[in-house]
Parts: sequence; structure tokens; C-alpha cells
Amino acid sequence: MANLPILQFEEQIVETVERNPVVVIIGETGSGKSTQLSQILHKRGYTKSGRAIAVTQPRRVAAVSVSRRVAQELGVRFGEEVGYAIRFEDRTSEKTCIKYLTDGVLLRESLSNPELNQYSVIILDEAHERSLNTDILLGLMKRLIKIRSTNLKVLITSATLDGEKVSRFFSNCPIVNVPGKLFPVEIRYSSERPTSYLESSLKTAIAICANNFALSEIHVREPEGDILIFMTGQDDIEKLVKKLEERVQSLEEGSCMDAVILPLHGSLPPELQASLVRVFSPPPPNCRRFIVATNIAETSLTVDGVVYVIDSGYVKQRQYNPSTGMYSLDVVPISRVQADQRAGRAGRTRPGKCYRLYTSTVYHEDLMGATVPEIQRSSLAGTVLYLKSLDLPDIDILKFDFLDPPSTEALEDALKQLYLIDAIDENGSITSIGQTMAELPLEPSLSRTLIEANEYGCLSQALTVAAMLSAETSLLPGPSKSTDKKRKHEPSDLPEGSGWGDHIQLLQIYELWDQTNYDVEWCKDNNLQVRGMKFVRDVRKQLSQIMQKIAKGSLDVHPSSVLKTDEEGMLPNYVVYHELISTTRPFMRNLCAVEMRWVVPILKKLEKLNITKLSGGSVPSEEQTKGENPSLPEKEVGVATPDDRES
Ligand code: ADP
Repeated sequence: MANLPILQFEEQIVETVERNPVVVIIGETGSGKSTQLSQILHKRGYTKSGRAIAVTQPRRVAAVSVSRRVAQELGVRFGEEVGYAIRFEDRTSEKTCIKYLTDGVLLRESLSNPELNQYSVIILDEAHERSLNTDILLGLMKRLIKIRSTNLKVLITSATLDGEKVSRFFSNCPIVNVPGKLFPVEIRYSSERPTSYLESSLKTAIAICANNFALSEIHVREPEGDILIFMTGQDDIEKLVKKLEERVQSLEEGSCMDAVILPLHGSLPPELQASLVRVFSPPPPNCRRFIVATNIAETSLTVDGVVYVIDSGYVKQRQYNPSTGMYSLDVVPISRVQADQRAGRAGRTRPGKCYRLYTSTVYHEDLMGATVPEIQRSSLAGTVLYLKSLDLPDIDILKFDFLDPPSTEALEDALKQLYLIDAIDENGSITSIGQTMAELPLEPSLSRTLIEANEYGCLSQALTVAAMLSAETSLLPGPSKSTDKKRKHEPSDLPEGSGWGDHIQLLQIYELWDQTNYDVEWCKDNNLQVRGMKFVRDVRKQLSQIMQKIAKGSLDVHPSSVLKTDEEGMLPNYVVYHELISTTRPFMRNLCAVEMRWVVPILKKLEKLNITKLSGGSVPSEEQTKGENPSLPEKEVGVATPDDRES
């Protein structure tokens, strides 16, 4: 840490920040921007006023990992003085003075506190990534520094040299350049475009020739140093990790050093995760690490010890087409800036080598100079709804001050969508439904679904579906998953697909898990990702809490009840009430906590119940029963979930 390049510029940075409301800091990846800037300003008294330093990160994993590192360096308890907040997860306390948060969370915070008075410094880190949320924040910061001219400092950091543009955006604010300490990196190009970049990466790392005699490109021939391989996504990473492991095992013992293969991508659990920890720990002696990563290792996470980079030349990118209203997830060629960043990862500790799995002509003639910012390839419905909900007096969405404005077509598409789902009226003003939607950390269409579900009395189910859809990987047990992984118990407990489709299946899966009292083994037996399911449970709880606050005219607990809520004011998940009375609004009286699995057998009985048969009469025709629900007794003892109480 002592020799990080940024520390040699400490005085210059502090002086520039002292004298200017906005400063751009340009520094090579790994120079210490993410971990050191917040500490420097904390040390120089910027948190003494009781206001904290916020550092935004476009990626959840980076917010978690960098904050953990800073807490370690300062020798404080993680989650106290230094913590993080990412969507659906807040690990901060009242003591927190350095807070790492995703750019999306800062946008949400500004909804309840538009002036962001809780912060003395806001550092927009990794601005070169040009995430949609960071771009919106850049526009908002421009307004905010005028309002809080005396007590707010904004720092914008970037790893690439587009500082001039950002500086111009902020009325030519100063730029501090932290020169990198990069060692030379030898670039090797492929002589032709490979047919499979996965196979080609494998060969470059460890090749095996035709007679099966182990002969390796980097691993055997090159001296020590870790290998960083850039792939496009989790699937490819998993495949390559598996193949590398097989190959390493097939190498003749003693023919080369040991090897550890580590995946690194954004869907790794944000919490302490073995792979992430091992990526940041020094490798064991006489052992080479193969780190197989997405573009997350380009600039977001700096892995020390890398000497060899294998660059597939591709990245997975979400692309929105406003004329069709469709998103596509495409594997597209990287930009030249990205290619240079990837190569740079090889020269941090000593001279390195970068193997580009594409030709020199592709690099020089085909790759785009820079990556298209996310704002120009996203649906803007959420963004426009957010800006509308801020209720800024002089705002014309079509003229909002963006660093790179999105197309008028994309903005108009967003306005149209919001109008269709009643979030804005025909004059473009945000409606009360729209305001409510903006409070939910979800895509506008899902927020609208929850609000409507609340009206129809099926909020509980809609919450489950929304939460299941929020998981980073699909929780549907697709055919590929169930065939290539062995199940402990056959047949599966999971419902077969039905004509109702995927949403209902997601709902059924969660409800079955709920009935097992969230049994981890059940998930494993049914080939469901445990971490994903736990995440869904947390998300559901949070969405439910937000909806409880939002929903009007709830079914509520009678004030005479002694049933205790938890520290967040939440009742147990399920309660049985003895009676439902209506005074100012409906109240449940005399209730107690139950577990869903206790009630399920009764509900199942109710499903099959035919009241006429019970009374001994003949079964009436369909016509006669229209409008009645013969399965419900007249006076019931009800079961409610916290969400049903709101409907
Ligand atoms: P920058 O933001 O300029 O890219 P960072 O502040 O992220 O640089 O990294 C500075 C140094 O801190 C690097 O050597 C990096 O490997 C190390 N580092 C960052 N995060 C962690 C972590 N979670 N664990 C261990 N080391 C880390």
C-alpha cells in the first residue's frame, strides 16, 4: 500500500480539492484511486463535520471488496466506520464515515434526500465505465455543486484518458494526473481469427499436442507469474475453468509448477467468497494462478501478480433497441480502450505479455476506439421516471444535461412507456402511481406490477415473482442444468412446467421452499442455487417492507395485539387471526405467529372441499354455483402474510 502511485500525489490532490468543488483524477488501474482517495480525505478532516465520504462503484462486487480492503487498511471493524450499501444489502452503521455504494444506491438515496446532505465528499469512481447510473449522477452533481457550493466536494476518477471531456462538462475543472507505473507489455497477436475463443484461450494457456503429450504454451514455457484470461460471461468462465482443471491434472507431475484455477465475475456472491478472497491473496509458493474473468478485471478489480494476459477480444453487452423495445444480450468485440486496459493488467509488477486472440488488423482497423456508453444502449424508462420523480423545477427530460446525451428516440420511447403504465400523465407530469413506482428499486414495469397486485389482493405472490426475477441467475431449473448435474433424490420436488409459464413456476418453486422452512438441503436436492434462493428471500423481505410503507388502506394488526415485531417493525411471515374487524380500516384481532407448513395441509383440504357433498345434498350444476365459492366456510379463521395484510 505504501508505494501506491496515488500516495505520491497526496498533497497535490488535497490542495486541488481544497480549492475546487469538482476535481477529475486520472490514474492507471491499480494506482490506488478506489482504496486511497477516501482514506486521504478522511485523514484530512473531511468527515469531521459528521458528514460521510461516499464512493460510488458501478459494480456490486467492487463496492463490497474495496470497502472490505479499506476497513482492513484502517484497522476498523467492517460495517462500522467503513461499510457498503448495494441494492438489497446495507452493511453500514451510524458510525460509518466512509461508505462504498453502487451508483444506483446513491441515486436512490438522492430521492429521499435530494441534496445528499449526509455526505461531505462524493467520489464517482470508475467514471470511465460510463455506467448509466454514473452518467445520471454526473448530471445531478453538476446541479448539486451549485446548491451546496460551500460544503460539498465531488471527485470523478477515471482510469483512461478521457479526463478532458469530463473536465469540460464541469466548467473546465482541474484534472490531477497520476502517472502509472506500468512495465512494458509485449503484445502478441493471433495470425488469424480463432474459430472458438474458448478453445484458443485454453491452448494459449496450456496446450496439449496431438499425441497427448503435455506441451504447454504459457504454463510450462514461461517463468512464474499469474495468467489473467478475459472471457465474456459466467457460462464461458465455468466451461474454461473446468477444461483448465482437466488439463492441469493431465500434466506430467513435476513437469511444471502447481496451478490454481479461479473464476472471477460479477455474479460471485457479494459476501466473502472463496474465489474472491483467493484472487486477492498472494498465491502459494511455486504455484501459478489462472484467473478466468469477465471485463470486471479490466479496471474494477485489480489483481496483483498478473504477468500474462489472454484477451479473447470480446465482451458481453446488453443492448436496447428503442424501435423494437427489445433488449438483446450480445457478445460483441471490445473497444481499443478496453484492449489496452486488458493488456495493461500484465505489466503492473514486472514486464509482461498479452496474447490477443485476434489479429493486429482487427485491433487497428475493426475495433471501435471507445465503448459506447451504457446510456446510449439502454432502455431509459427507469432513468426518466427517476428524473421525473426528483421534481426538479426546471427540468426538461429531453434537454437534461448528460455528458453524452441519449438519442431523442430512446427518450421518447421511455416517455411513451411510462405513459402507458400510468407513471406519467398526458402532460408528462409524474402521477401518484409513478411516484410510488419510483420508490421501488425495480424496473418500472415490475414496480407497476406490484402496485396493481396490491389492488387485486395478490401482492404476496407478485412480490415473490418480482424477487425471483431479481436474482442474478435464472432460478428456473432448466433442462440443461438438471441433466448435467446429478440429483440426490429423483424425482424432483419441483413442479413440472405448465401452461401458465415461467412466472407461475418461479412462484411455485419459492412457495415450495417456503414450506420447507427455507431448507438449504431442499434447494440442493432440487438443483436450485442456494445463494440465489437466499438472495430472493432477502429481496422479497425488503420489497415487502417497502410495499408495507407504500400501501394504503392495509389490513392491519389491531393495536391491542401483543404480538411483537422484529427490530425492523416486521411481523412474522405468517399469522393466524381470530377475527377481522373493520373500524377506520380492517384490523386483525387476536393473532399469533404460525409457519406456513402448518397451514398447508388445511389449505389443501379446503381446495378439495365440496360443501354440498358435506351437507349430504346433491351436487349442484355449474350454473347454480356461479358467483359462489363453495370451498370457503362462511366464518373463517384467516391466515395472512404481511403482504396480504396490505391488500
Ligand atoms: P484503482 O482504483 O486505482 O484501480 P485500487 O485502489 O482498487 O486502485 O487498488 C490499489 C491496490 O489495492 C491494488 O494493489 C489492489 O490489488 C489492492 N486491492 C484493492 N482491493 C483489494 C482487496 N479487496 N483485497 C486486497 N487488495 C486489494
